[in-house]
Amino acid sequence: MALFRPKEIINTYTDLDIERLRKEGFDTIFIDVDNTIAIPNTGTCDERAEKFLNDLKEAGFKVVILSNNNSKRVKMFLRDIDADYVSLALKPLPFGYIRGLIKSGSKPSKTIVLGDQLLTDILGANICGCYGIYTKRLQKKDSKLTAFNRRIEDFVWRNILHEKV
Ligand SMILES: [Mg+2]
Repeated sequence: MALFRPKEIINTYTDLDIERLRKEGFDTIFIDVDNTIAIPNTGTCDERAEKFLNDLKEAGFKVVILSNNNSKRVKMFLRDIDADYVSLALKPLPFGYIRGLIKSGSKPSKTIVLGDQLLTDILGANICGCYGIYTKRLQKKDSKLTAFNRRIEDFVWRNILHEKV
């Protein structure tokens, strides 16, 4: 089931090889919020995350925050940071990704999707022809719905992708 398979796996978002990916021709990145770049539901864009976003912009990436959470949550994460975002993205369905592509003016083949869930971030990236990079979650504890998805995800890793992550 290639649809579940991320193109790359990293331990945490700051391990993203920004320079290499830029050289490879990617010009846009969609970034998930909860448990990818912030603590689920409560974390704001801390210094480390802000530096990461700035490093991406300096390298020439267009950055779009792509979250299934609501706009209140995304705005709380961003605080006063100016960034494009799509909330209630309904990942893995294509609509939010398409909204992100319209915002960035980029193409799927030049767009990276960074997220901590196979069932939403990565599946949707593959459906849309984007380059999905899976990052291990920031903390073990997930929201209730995500905790349920995580059981399915563990099954997918073990029995479909045959990888230990
Ligand atoms: Mg997430």
